[in-house]
Amino acid sequence: MSWHGRPFAFRVRVDVEHVEAQKYIGDYRLTRVAVTNLLDMLAEMDVHLTFAVLGITAEMFPNLIADIVDAGHEVYGHGMFHREAFAGRSLADQRHELRRMRDSIHGACGVEVDGLACPHHGSADENTLRAAVELDITFVESRFRAAGSPSPQWRDVEGGDARVVVPGADARGASDYTDRRPDWADAHEEAFSPEGAREKWLANVDWAEKHGRMASLVIHPWMLVINAGEIQVVKDVIRHAKGRGAWFATIAGLIDMAGPG
Ligand SMILES: [Zn+2]
Repeated sequence: MSWHGRPFAFRVRVDVEHVEAQKYIGDYRLTRVAVTNLLDMLAEMDVHLTFAVLGITAEMFPNLIADIVDAGHEVYGHGMFHREAFAGRSLADQRHELRRMRDSIHGACGVEVDGLACPHHGSADENTLRAAVELDITFVESRFRAAGSPSPQWRDVEGGDARVVVPGADARGASDYTDRRPDWADAHEEAFSPEGAREKWLANVDWAEKHGRMASLVIHPWMLVINAGEIQVVKDVIRHAKGRGAWFATIAGLIDMAGPG
């Protein structure tokens, strides 16, 4: 299959979330420093990525979010607060959070977000999908995946004729990690290992190339400033994927691949 004319896809998602920097390293300002440095690095490498932005971070650092857009990257939503997971909450509650997220990001950079990356390991339920539809958010990245499919597909939302686009399940993904968040319920995280991360992330890219699939990587700017060696690994993996001819996936491009809704 073709990924916008390329043989495989690599999707790097950058989570912009100053409240997580505050929570785990005690200084929310590191988000700005880390994102600014990352933008410089990406400009030098001439690659454009997707940035999943918290609404509350867009309110706090509107110029930073505008800088991300000005640098040619894609911005979408990561929820408003990064507090409770979406799954299990009422439709009204989830819709309220998504509306605030959408308005905050629009206020910061003028972008009408068309995608949502659900925080807390993609926690979501049918109400999340419905709330997204009601706010004109087309792409939802969560535990809902298109079974057996390498590419994104439309998915019916329960109890109506609305649909959203979800990523294909026949894909591989990884995230950076740190032992700074030991309280994560389902991820007893280890100290970051540059060697381990490099091996796994490169293997995912090579798997995607071999099979014509998409590999994903989620990175957290606040981790880049505390994980020794991570920035170099991220750089090497991006350079490798670029050299192999990857399409650096965007939300808009993935929605496009799902075809007309
Ligand atoms: Zn997050």
